[in-house]
Amino acid sequence: MEDLVATRLTRRRLQRLALVLPAPLALAALNGRLAGIALAQDDPATPDASGTPVLVPTPSCVDDDDLDETQAQTEGPFFTPDSPERTSLLEDGIAGTPLLLTGYVYSSGCQPVDGALLDFWHADDNGEYDNQGYRLRGHQFAGNDGRFELETIMPGLYSGRTRHIHVKVQAPDQPVLTTQLYFPDEPGNASDGIFDPSLVVDLEQIEDREVAAFTFVLEVPEDTE
Ligand code: FE
Repeated sequence: MEDLVATRLTRRRLQRLALVLPAPLALAALNGRLAGIALAQDDPATPDASGTPVLVPTPSCVDDDDLDETQAQTEGPFFTPDSPERTSLLEDGIAGTPLLLTGYVYSSGCQPVDGALLDFWHADDNGEYDNQGYRLRGHQFAGNDGRFELETIMPGLYSGRTRHIHVKVQAPDQPVLTTQLYFPDEPGNASDGIFDPSLVVDLEQIEDREVAAFTFVLEVPEDTE
């Protein structure tokens, strides 16, 4: 993956990067420190609502091999069905480090999953879930390019677990994948019994918020892609 990504970062693309990214980030790309993060299709940095260029992962679909399906994980005890549809979980009274989580939903056959459902839930800054209402819970549907974007905060820590976000992902009319996302360089990762390194997001601090990127890969029958 990293080699493929590195070879896709051609000189011309790096020059384009330098034009659209904040200077330290462009420099980081030139230094190869963004080897794990490629850029969306031919649009190297898509501005978000605030105009900030946002890095997103591109699956290694230049390869002939199928993508590896995203690993399933336990739902845990705090899932609440029927969350509201929204792409921002930010609302009055929610404190914490701003986080933008973005990425794609792809099939293992390298096709974007148009309209994939993504249902996110996670703990607040104090490590507590809202089990009465829907704070820090919400679902959305990927675009026709498979892309999704979630505005939230970094999840807090609670006893026995490392930092994580729960998510259910579902291609239309296909089984639900339930899993969790993790963060790099977390002290709790090593001691968390279900932590899976394949579920760690790419993470960069951009200005005053964290920007995380992850590509979900679902097993989707070819005749429905
Ligand atoms: Fe949890």
